[in-house]
Amino acid sequence: MSGGVIAIDGPSASGKSTTARAVAEALGFAHLDSGSLYRGVTVVALREGFRRGLTGANALAALSPETILRAAEDRGLMLQPDGTGFAAYLEGEPAEEALRSVEITAHVSAIAAIPVVREWVNSRLRAMVRAGQDVVVDGRDIGTVVFPDADLKIFLTASAETRAGRRISQRGQRIDPEYLDAETQALAARDRADSTRQVAPLRPAEDAIHLDTTTLDFEEQVQFIVDRARLIFARD
Ligand code: C5P
Repeated sequence: MSGGVIAIDGPSASGKSTTARAVAEALGFAHLDSGSLYRGVTVVALREGFRRGLTGANALAALSPETILRAAEDRGLMLQPDGTGFAAYLEGEPAEEALRSVEITAHVSAIAAIPVVREWVNSRLRAMVRAGQDVVVDGRDIGTVVFPDADLKIFLTASAETRAGRRISQRGQRIDPEYLDAETQALAARDRADSTRQVAPLRPAEDAIHLDTTTLDFEEQVQFIVDRARLIFARD
């Protein structure tokens, strides 16, 4: 028996993960953060490169996708139940801190553009649903590629500046204009890379509900999705 699926897609820092987690909590579903697996593969690739005396983009360019995925398996990259959802583990330890570093964020789009890496991540996400788990999954291609038959699809957006401001506040830093500008540019570059790649580019599914959160507060956006989900799952 397959579980229910709510897909939440959108650009970087649109609040997908925090929203998905809150929606999952409200509905008793599990939260799956697909980006954490792409980030995990990036950590593995950079560590594998480092072992061979290579850093950054040089490390990624020198390793074949098969070598990277073998290292991911050997180092035990996986999602494990954690609170109301699943968290990425690496070498038997929670990997959250390593996943969010500036270096990983700078290289993850290159790793996520590799087709076999995407297949590897997708097969792990689909296995959870086949196991009968009800999930809220967030990412870039969840409603278009990973779960095209999802019960509910949301495409979350916010202006680039709003997203950059939220990202800086999340880090507990002060929002000065220069810093805001640099963060807005970095987000725009990642959005461009994610939207223009050949495989599974970031785009809304035709049947996705668009939710612009620029002027919504967090509780309102979570409630909007929970209300729609309750209508759908109450009918089943
Ligand atoms: O969501 P998050 O910012 O953690 O995702 C990190 C990166 O992983 C994105 O910039 C994107 O390149 C990639 N990603 C993806 N498809 C997904 C989720 C994330 O390509 N479903």
